[in-house]
Amino acid sequence: MSARVVLLGPPGAGKGTQAALIAERMSVAHVASGDLFRKHLSEGTELGALAKTYMDKGELVPDDVTIRMALERMAEPDARAGCVLDGFPRTMEQAKALDAALEEQGERIASAPLIEVEPEELVRRLAGRWICRSCQTPYHEAFSPPRTAGLCDACGGGLYQRDDDKPEVVRARLETYERQTAPLIAYYEAQGKLRRVNGQRSVEQVTADLEAAIGA
Ligand code: ADP
Ligand code: ADP
Ligand code: ZN
Repeated sequence: MSARVVLLGPPGAGKGTQAALIAERMSVAHVASGDLFRKHLSEGTELGALAKTYMDKGELVPDDVTIRMALERMAEPDARAGCVLDGFPRTMEQAKALDAALEEQGERIASAPLIEVEPEELVRRLAGRWICRSCQTPYHEAFSPPRTAGLCDACGGGLYQRDDDKPEVVRARLETYERQTAPLIAYYEAQGKLRRVNGQRSVEQVTADLEAAIGA
């Protein structure tokens, strides 16, 4: 049983979808850095305004503010026993800061599953993605539609399309992933924590593979 998991994968791979399911099964917190930034944005905080300038361009928010926000979230009571990290870390500096912070507490990342999906499929997934305004559950207009059009199955909230899921921003996000986040694959591989999972299957099949990979 592994309590702290880093879910790796490019934008659109299914991290948000899978992290929510796995965190619930493991009874640990789902910590999604993108959701945290969007919450700041909707609440009109200074951090939200800063993050938006990067998110709109498909670039990464600077490491210092991102690391502080993620570690603070991980220190909240519901995340102390464990968490599924979704979207963090995304740079080598973030990964090292995370390991250092956990080491100070006598903790560690148990495993880092990588959800692998081809670029053309990522573009299709992001173009059709709709997100719940209230609980952030992702849907897809063709691949995983809500039961009632425009409404969240889980909470009844309204669905919307993210500004950064527009094709030109998606291209930039995929480039950012290759340049800044893909190096984490070798980092976790060297620690013996990387687990490759084929993300181009049904949501249920991917969940089953992830659970097997992390020993949940
Ligand atoms: P995706 O669906 O592409 O995985 P996220 O919701 O995780 O998207 O992230 C959306 C945006 O928020 C990113 O493009 C980036 O600007 C910012 N962001 C999220 N997580 C991080 C992070 N760990 N470091 C820097 N920026 C981040
Ligand atoms: P990420 O957090 O990695 O950006 P999401 O979980 O938001 O990815 O998924 C991206 C899009 O792909 C969403 O529209 C989601 O409904 C859809 N999706 C997720 N998993 C699958 C799957 N296994 N097959 C087809 N579509 C999927
Ligand atoms: Zn919802």
